[in-house]
Amino acid sequence: MRIGTPREVLQGEARVAMTPDSALQLQKLGYDCAIESGAGDRAGFTDAAYAAAGVEVVGSTAELWESSDIIAKVRPPTEEEVGYLSSDKTLISFFYPASNENLMQLAADKGASVVAMDMVPRISRAQKMDALSSMANIAGYRAVIEAGNNFGRFFTGQITAAGKVPPAKVLIVGAGVAGLAAIGTSTSLGAITYAFDVRPEVAEQVESMGAEFVYLDFEEEQTDGASSGGYAAVSSPEFREAQLAKFRELAPEMDIVITTALIPNREAPELWTEDMVKAMKPGSVIVDLAAERGGNCKLTVKDEKFVTENGVTIIGYTDFPSRMATQSSTLYSTNIRHLMTDLTPEKDGMPVHNMEDDVIRGATIAHANEITFPPPPPKVK
Ligand code: NAD
Repeated sequence: MRIGTPREVLQGEARVAMTPDSALQLQKLGYDCAIESGAGDRAGFTDAAYAAAGVEVVGSTAELWESSDIIAKVRPPTEEEVGYLSSDKTLISFFYPASNENLMQLAADKGASVVAMDMVPRISRAQKMDALSSMANIAGYRAVIEAGNNFGRFFTGQITAAGKVPPAKVLIVGAGVAGLAAIGTSTSLGAITYAFDVRPEVAEQVESMGAEFVYLDFEEEQTDGASSGGYAAVSSPEFREAQLAKFRELAPEMDIVITTALIPNREAPELWTEDMVKAMKPGSVIVDLAAERGGNCKLTVKDEKFVTENGVTIIGYTDFPSRMATQSSTLYSTNIRHLMTDLTPEKDGMPVHNMEDDVIRGATIAHANEITFPPPPPKVK
């Protein structure tokens, strides 16, 4: 069968779901590969590089979709793209089914199988296909780089002939995948790095990366807002007050604040208030990685960067992985290739859509004319 990757149609999206390297691996699984001409350009992969890797370069979008049995892409499909689907086709992409119910219904009506990369269960066996994590890792790294690019000083402290420079102080709010990547980047650049999370079990990880975990003056154990399954829950009003009080205390000292706090299926919690922004020094920078879901900072404007009256730069970009398109395409296409390995047990270019398999079942949102979302919980961790 043939796996094809179209150009991403969303304005500004530079990633591509297949690279010449991933195509070589897909061919080892028995698949023919096709790419729409120019699909890899913005990620640094030319048509010539694909052709050299044995990939057929196809001139038109319609031809790519019509001639491919499996379509691998990055962004959720548009209505026009769903229009190309049929009962003998499989689509693999980010989909966010809870927010795209109409598209999911349209795809199911067409009889297509749809595998949502954002629905891959977060169990150990599926880590190699976990595109949410590979993209969050890039976003965390890039958030620090972006902050540095808008900050007028070094991260690391220096004693030079021209004077003594204090190290920057960086606070990371939320120590999930993106937050931990931001901590690693910030400490490696030499900043004094602090991190906070409602899940106390991450304190050890934070400290092992050279950052300081921020503890609250909270009477109960610091477990409020931590729920089972590794994800955060909504905090109680008392806990939230203790958290905001601590952030108010830290705000005047911090040079850079990177917020990554999310709670599954909810708007991002508001944790960095207007008075905290006002208390920060001119020249400070906030990068709000939760901007897509409403932002952790009250003043964040989605997809914008602006400077407040007191000189604080607030960055609400939502396309950090796309800003590092070569890296993110390489990791995303590897996630897809691993998924295809699981879908192709005989390595004969024929996918077997085994709905008894936890990972395949969990990620499949439409199959055999049915919507199969939400999935049952996985049987194994
Ligand atoms: P996420 O993007 O949902 O949230 C980011 C972080 O924000 C989380 O650490 C969360 O605890 C934190 N947060 C929520 N509310 C907060 C608040 N009020 N203040 C401060 N922090 C707050 O998280 P994620 O990066 O997707 O990771 C979530 C969990 O999933 C982690 O336990 C992670 O280790 C786990 N995980 C497991 C696997 C796997 O086993 N394959 C893969 C990836 C992640």
